[in-house]
Amino acid sequence: MIRINEHYLKLTASYLFSEIARRVADYAGKNPGKEIVRLGIGDVTLPLPPACIAAFHRAVDDMASVKTFRGYGPEQGYDFLREKIAEFDFRSRGAAVSPDEIFVSDGAKCDTGNFQELFAHDTAIAVPDPVYPVYVDSNVMAGRTGENRGGRYAGLVYLESTEENGFIPGIPRERVDLVYLCFPNNPTGATATKDELARWVDYARENRALILFDAAYESFIRDGALPHSIYEIDGADEVAVEFRSFSKTAGFTGTRCAFTVIPKKCRAYTGGGEPVFLHQLWLRRQTTKFNGVSYPVQRAAEAVYSEEGRRQVRELGDYYLKNASLIRERMSGLGYPCAGGINAPYIWIKTDRDSWSFFDFLLEKAGVVCTPGAGFGPCGEGYIRMSAFNSRENVEKALERIAGALA
Ligand code: PLP
Repeated sequence: MIRINEHYLKLTASYLFSEIARRVADYAGKNPGKEIVRLGIGDVTLPLPPACIAAFHRAVDDMASVKTFRGYGPEQGYDFLREKIAEFDFRSRGAAVSPDEIFVSDGAKCDTGNFQELFAHDTAIAVPDPVYPVYVDSNVMAGRTGENRGGRYAGLVYLESTEENGFIPGIPRERVDLVYLCFPNNPTGATATKDELARWVDYARENRALILFDAAYESFIRDGALPHSIYEIDGADEVAVEFRSFSKTAGFTGTRCAFTVIPKKCRAYTGGGEPVFLHQLWLRRQTTKFNGVSYPVQRAAEAVYSEEGRRQVRELGDYYLKNASLIRERMSGLGYPCAGGINAPYIWIKTDRDSWSFFDFLLEKAGVVCTPGAGFGPCGEGYIRMSAFNSRENVEKALERIAGALA
C-alpha cells in the first residue's frame, strides 16, 4: 500500500490567497461589470527593465548558433552572474561575499522552502508572526511540528511582531537552533537596523544557532543607514544564510531568478557537536536535485548590474515606493495607522475591526482587494496588508474609492 506523508494533512486546508480568490469571485459574480482593484497579492505589474530584455534577446540568439549554444550550465549558476552579484550586492557594501559563496536559483520561495532539508528532525525553530507562510509550511511538511491549533503549530516558537515592538521581534526566552528572519518584512514592511540584526547575530553565535535571512525586498531600502544584507554585521558569515531574489527587484516574478548566499565559514553541527560546513551540504543538495537556471534568464539577471540596468531597477523601485507612500498617507489620513511602506513595498494597516471583516468591507463598499493580516498568523489579526505593486492609476483609484466608502 502506498502511503502518504501524513504531515501534509496538518497543513491548514485553505491557503490564504485561495480564500481571497473565492471571496473576490463571489463578489464579482454578484456585481457583474463592477471593476475590482487588487492591492492584495504581491506580484509586480511593471515589465522587465529594457536592459534585461535586451540581454535576454541576445542570449536567446546565442542558443540559436552552434558556436554560442549552451547546454547544462553549472548548478550553482554561471560565473558571469555570480561575480556581478558578489561585487555589486555585497562587496560594494563592505560585505566580503565571494562569487563561489553564491548559489543562483529559480526562486527564493524554493530556496527558503528547501533549505530546511539540511537540518535535523528535532531542530528547534523560530518563525516570525505574522510570517511569509513558506517558512512554516515547509517545516510542517517535513514533520517538524505538531498540529495547528488557533493558527499556530505545536513545536514552533513564534516571534511576535507587534505594534509594541515596532514589528521587530525580540530574542525568544527559550533556546532555538534555527531562526527565520525577513527584512524588509513581508507582510509588515518593517525594516531592521544594524543594531537589531547584530543582536540576532550575537544570539546565534552564543547558541551555535543559524539565521535564515530573507532579503527578497532589500532593493526597496532607500534609508542609507539601514543594512541591505546581514553580512554587513560582523560575524554573521559564520551563522547566517541569506536569500535574495530578482522577482521584486527587477520584475522577475514570471521569469524566475534568485540566489542564496552561504559563506564558506557558515556551520551547523552533528549530534556529536562536530561542525559541518553548510556550503558543502547545499552544494551536494543542489547538484543532486537542481540543474541550474536557464542561460538566457541568467544573462537577463546579469543586466540588472549594468549601468543602465541599475538605473532602470532603481526607477522601478521608486515607482512602487511612490505608490506605497500614497497608500500610507491616505490611509493614515483616514485614521488608520500604518507601518511599513517606506523602505518596503508593503503597508501594514491597523484596522478598526477584525481583518477579514475589513477585507469584506473594502471589497463590498469600494471594490478593492487587500490581504487580511490574520492570514499571516495570529499577530496579523486586526491588520490588513496593502501592496504597492500596481499602476499609479489603480492605486489612486483604489484610495479614492476607499475614502468614499469610509465617508
Ligand atoms: N520571500 C519573501 C519574503 C517573499 O515575499 C517572496 C514572494 O512573495 C519570496 C521570498 C519568493 O520570491 P521568488 O519569487 O524569488 O520565489
